[in-house]
Amino acid sequence: MHFFEYRDGIMHAEDVDLRTIAAEVGTPFYCYSRATLERHYRVFDEAFAGVEHMICYSPKANSNLAVMRTLAELGAGMDVVSEGELRRARRAGVPASRIVFSGVGKTDREISYALDEDIHCFNVESVPELEVLSQIAASKGKTARISLRINPDVDAQTHQKISTGKAENKFGISWADAESIYDRARNMPGLRIIGVDMHIGSQITSLEPFEKACILIGSLVERLRAAGHDLHHIDLGGGLGIPYRDSDPVPPLPAAYAEMAKRTLGHLGCKFILEPGRLIAGNAGIMVTRVIYVKRGDAKTFVIADGAMNDLIRPTLYEAFHEIRPVVAEDRGEGMLADLVGPICESGDFLAQDRILPQVERGDLLAVMTAGAYGAVQSGTYNTRPLVPEVLVSGDRFALVRRRPTYDEMIDLDSFADWQRLSD
Ligand SMILES: *Cc1c(COP(=O)(O)O)cnc(C)c1O
Repeated sequence: MHFFEYRDGIMHAEDVDLRTIAAEVGTPFYCYSRATLERHYRVFDEAFAGVEHMICYSPKANSNLAVMRTLAELGAGMDVVSEGELRRARRAGVPASRIVFSGVGKTDREISYALDEDIHCFNVESVPELEVLSQIAASKGKTARISLRINPDVDAQTHQKISTGKAENKFGISWADAESIYDRARNMPGLRIIGVDMHIGSQITSLEPFEKACILIGSLVERLRAAGHDLHHIDLGGGLGIPYRDSDPVPPLPAAYAEMAKRTLGHLGCKFILEPGRLIAGNAGIMVTRVIYVKRGDAKTFVIADGAMNDLIRPTLYEAFHEIRPVVAEDRGEGMLADLVGPICESGDFLAQDRILPQVERGDLLAVMTAGAYGAVQSGTYNTRPLVPEVLVSGDRFALVRRRPTYDEMIDLDSFADWQRLSD
């Protein structure tokens, strides 16, 4: 469900005509709908009504400060994976007591900073991390609240690049070692165990892997409690999938996911921590791009737009499908079979392949749908293209929430070596 709809044949973001934003901001740009973010957050939150829970939005899906602020205002916590995300969360006004810190490679500096901020919980992913965390916390005279991220070795049945819960993935502590490592952690200075954590992957479109993992984690919690561990929460991670293709079956709804979690784990009386990212932000954003050329080749027709893989890498990185819609829907007769590509000098630079697109012409605006998660956050400046701007819409208002950097700002990050001189 989202608020990008046609009105009199023109796609709007809530009440704003996308052509208006394009004229003001230039293309390409990302456009987010505040009402959609709010709706997704509320639906997820309400699904867990009746059980103690904390929703820690995963800003790795979309870490724009204004998006994070929108969610913070609704009461969201955050699941950060770096010092940078932690700093963003704090700037967005998220209390440290609602922040958990995940990730396999937390550096000493990041750990130290998060301890100083007194975040709610470290989701620890390995024994070496446990040792470093214990040592740094003890040396500061602090206590780190921790949960161990356990890898339940279930197949999330998703794309290999976003599957994280199998034994061969780099994430989490192996299932077989979980109890012995909990026992070790109990005796380490500077640590207090408060929960258990998992995250098995992303864009998971069936409840089955979640349910398998929940049953396993539930049995682990029972054994850990029997061994005397005081566990207050179960962090289920994120990963619930969203529809990208109009023709795809709708993935399980938050209500069904929450029902499964309550059914499999409710008897333990633990608080749930949830870390949704894509589910909140995915359908709440689009990328708008303008057609530069239509090139009719011998084998294929290419629609060449000003948005490229540096702005949205999902199609080439994950073989992801995004619906492409014209901003101005006119009847131009039969569609055309084409690839929608960007200007970058890479064959992997495409937004859609072998797609029936409407008959497009130079200058047309196209909306790349469902681009709110893992879109702008993965954008870069390859080919010295300016970082793509981001716009947040609320009702009939819109705001530029990340501006396009100037060429000088981009190039001035570089400098000559001291032995180089331009005047020669
Ligand atoms: C990526 C990630 C999430 C969010 O995943 P989504 O599929 O976007 O919901 C949550 N927790 C952790 C630890 C992650 O790495």
